[in-house]
This record gives sequence, structure tokens and C-alpha cells, in this order.
Amino acid sequence: VAANQVTPESIDQLSNKSFPLCMRMSHEHLRAHHHHKHDGRRQYGLFLKGIGLSLEDALRFWREEFTKKVDNEKFDKQYAYNIRHSYGKEGSMVNYTPLSCLTIINLSYGAGSTHGCPYKIFDTATLKTKMTSYGISQIHIQEIVNYSSKGHYQLACGKYFEVVHEKPLEAGINHPNQYFEQSQIIMGN
Ligand code: SF4
Repeated sequence: VAANQVTPESIDQLSNKSFPLCMRMSHEHLRAHHHHKHDGRRQYGLFLKGIGLSLEDALRFWREEFTKKVDNEKFDKQYAYNIRHSYGKEGSMVNYTPLSCLTIINLSYGAGSTHGCPYKIFDTATLKTKMTSYGISQIHIQEIVNYSSKGHYQLACGKYFEVVHEKPLEAGINHPNQYFEQSQIIMGN
């Protein structure tokens, strides 16, 4: 998938194999709850922008989910501006870049937050349950949580990448969009 070919319709499938855990979970959260808090929208929205979702498609994608809970008018008033803003089309016209791992790991996280690095914010039991639901073997899960429980979140993420792709990862993981790009290369897209 070339960067400019990502459409709202392709995201479910891409999220299963080419999204790091943070973004896979952001996507699941959006599909399940039709909402994200501000930081969750920023983290996930900028990632999607980085993988090639156009502004027009981003508005359609977020609108389709959010309007399962709020009406179109509210979406336009409260959310559409921020999406256009993140694409540099409003306010200071800054073209914002997707957040790096370090930024995401260091974001403050509170009750009800929908952003963050799961290797940091989830306890071992929660991570294990999540990974089991993705069909990852217990041996591999143990390797992953051995890293996360010691605070090596990006190493945990790299191990998850290797397990999902069944390939060694030479560069480490330092950015969710780098994760996505490496994955797409391995998958021949
Ligand atoms: Fe996302 Fe980075 Fe955490 Fe991986 S290490 S889950 S890419 S924030």
C-alpha cells in the first residue's frame, strides 16, 4: 500500500498486521466506543495522517465513528476543526507530525485516557490477555512482557514486531510510523 492509498476502508485490515500495539488498540477503541479523548485523537489521528490517510478521508473516517454517538452538527463543532488543524488547515497552519515513541511513552496518562504506550500503561496480566487474544504464543508473550516489566517498552514493541512478522527486526522501534513502514516493507507493499 503506497502512502497515498490508505483509505478508511483499509484501516481494519492494516491495523491487524502493520500497526504497533498502541495504534492497534487505538483503532479497536475507536471501533468499540466510537470516541477518543483529545490526546487519544491526537495520537491516533496524527499516526493515520502519517501513514497516508488524506484530510478528506480522515474527516470521513472519524465522522463515521463519532456520529454513532453524537450528531453531525456536534461533530462539526467539536471535532472537525481539530482534525483540520492537525493537517495544518486551521489556526497556526502548522503541519503537525506524528508522535514518536518517546513522546507517547512520556505523555501523562489518567483515568479514562485513550492514548499512551500499552507496554507502559498496562500491567503484565492485561498485556498477556491482550496478546493471547491476538493469537500470540505464551512463550512469545513471556518474552515481550519480560521487556515491558523492566521498563524496556520499545524493546517489547520490537519483539512483538518480530513475532507478528516472523522476521528479525534490525532497527529497533522508535516511532509508530516507522513500525508501520517496516511492516509494509516486509509484507511487500
Ligand atoms: Fe507504540 Fe512506540 Fe509503544 Fe510501540 S513502543 S507501542 S510504537 S509507543
